[in-house]
Amino acid sequence: MRLRNVKGAKEKIEGDDYTIKLPNEKKGIWKDVFGNDNPIHIEIGMGKGKFIMELAKKNPNINYIGIEKYSSVLVRALEKRPELEQDNLYFIRMDAEDLNEVFEEEEVARIYLNFSDPWPKERHAKRRLTSVQFLERYNKCLDQDGLIIFKTDNRELFDFSLEQVELAGWNLENVTYDLHHSEYAEGNVMTEYEEKFSKEGKPINRMVIRRKR
Ligand code: SAM
Repeated sequence: MRLRNVKGAKEKIEGDDYTIKLPNEKKGIWKDVFGNDNPIHIEIGMGKGKFIMELAKKNPNINYIGIEKYSSVLVRALEKRPELEQDNLYFIRMDAEDLNEVFEEEEVARIYLNFSDPWPKERHAKRRLTSVQFLERYNKCLDQDGLIIFKTDNRELFDFSLEQVELAGWNLENVTYDLHHSEYAEGNVMTEYEEKFSKEGKPINRMVIRRKR
């Protein structure tokens, strides 16, 4: 994704009440941040936040955390955050590589990965968010029934992910190569990238991955 530097983004994030500045300090006590025991669902690489905002609005009894690596992107989500008049959505600016420093074992119930960067070069395979290295990180913070829902237009990344899931010994469910024309289409919430790609006529791949026990 090409990034344009947004002037003042860091300052806006610094002053925002819904962005957690020192997320490592919340490890193991995320329930206190939300003030309830509701399950925690996270989106990694949320971009401008359309998807997670919509989910948070639809599901007030679920706590959401949107994770984004770049300030210039996160700031766009912050601009939209006031539209959600609920307290069940927070943001973190961080690299998902550090996930285990931020979430305790079994603290997360669900992880969404939407249109993750493909990192096409083989030497960068470890950076793909569905690599076995990342699945290991997710395994540490997901609860016993935890699952990951992954959508992408990129067939190579999708096929790579299927292999990685098998290698890691996780379980696959509801795999589709054309989500919008499948039995799982109903209730699907579209992301920004998903809207763009489906307008171009590209099929959307989706899999559900259940944590190994
Ligand atoms: N999920 C959004 C959507 O579907 O519209 C955005 C997709 S965009 C291609 C991928 C996003 O993931 C970018 O905003 C990028 O900055 C973020 N990202 C990539 N690697 C990341 C990482 N390791 N940790 C956190 N965010 C990451």
